[in-house]
Amino acid sequence: MSASLPVIDTYFLQEFLTRLLNTPSPTGFTALAVELVEQTLAVYPDVVLRRTRKGALLASLPGAANDHPRALTAHVDTLGGMVKEIKSSGRLKLTKIGGYAMNTVEGEGCTVFTADGRRYRGSYLLNKASSHVYGAAVNETKRDEDALEVRLDERVSSAAETQALGIAVGDFVAFDPRVELANGFVRSRHLDDKACVACLVAAIKALQDAGLKPAQSAHFLVSNYEEVGHGAAVGIPPEAEELLAVDMAAVGDGQTSDEYHATLCVKDSGGPYHHGLSQRLRKLADEYQIASKVDIYPYYGSDGEAYWRAGGDVAVALIGPGVDASHNYERTHLAALEATTRWVEAYLLEA
Ligand SMILES: [Zn+2]
Repeated sequence: MSASLPVIDTYFLQEFLTRLLNTPSPTGFTALAVELVEQTLAVYPDVVLRRTRKGALLASLPGAANDHPRALTAHVDTLGGMVKEIKSSGRLKLTKIGGYAMNTVEGEGCTVFTADGRRYRGSYLLNKASSHVYGAAVNETKRDEDALEVRLDERVSSAAETQALGIAVGDFVAFDPRVELANGFVRSRHLDDKACVACLVAAIKALQDAGLKPAQSAHFLVSNYEEVGHGAAVGIPPEAEELLAVDMAAVGDGQTSDEYHATLCVKDSGGPYHHGLSQRLRKLADEYQIASKVDIYPYYGSDGEAYWRAGGDVAVALIGPGVDASHNYERTHLAALEATTRWVEAYLLEA
């Protein structure tokens, strides 16, 4: 028999994840999602909440001891877009927020958020979208920011008419997540990294429900600028001696990661993670029989490295659920979410 961990409320995990996925939060426009996480954690009297000046959420949980405080992080910001130009047709040219290939958002529904709080619906399409008009160009056009545009669901045909809606350069645009839960799978955009935010919240809930304190005080940074590379550069309390970054594992050819396990990433584009902390996580996975893998991600950086680059003097390790088709139409499985949450619990309770 493996050692036991506090019971995870998987209904809560899925329900909260679904709400978070349905809350738009492209990098730079994350207040609604941060607020949702804050409200969800506010019911637990032990959790101390504070917002950083940068707009991230820091949730702190007092531990049985406080001589070696720990930090964990997951990010609530996602890929998205911003209005770069209102075209003479009244349609919108976008600039990308975060790193993704244009074909992964082509044809997607989207919402434009105006500066005065209005929301408009539309879709992001190739300029030359109709096969009946453009023939082979529909297939042959190279997908880039110049080749795609937002078609608003409004009767506009000039820049002036679009401007009259209150739409302007600089407005944030969120792509539809298209959340679907079926047969244990969770299919949605932006599981990176809302899946892991949900795992952290579910782990906090599990400990609180069980009346358990973490072995050491734990600080959870829900960061809000990860997709552009500097999310957790600030916001980790300086007394924290370790940082466990919790972010999706990359699934694909040559990878050990899959949608049914949590992965310990030992190296990515930023180089190796902290060996000592990684070894402790492997030991915990063995001890608690957590469904886990060890992997290397070829094109990947994490908020753990963002903190290291900013000068954070901590041990950093990275774990997370396997996510198929990352930065595309993503998918994972409840098995991976549970494994990640159990690993977080085990780390929090590790004496
Ligand atoms: Zn991520």
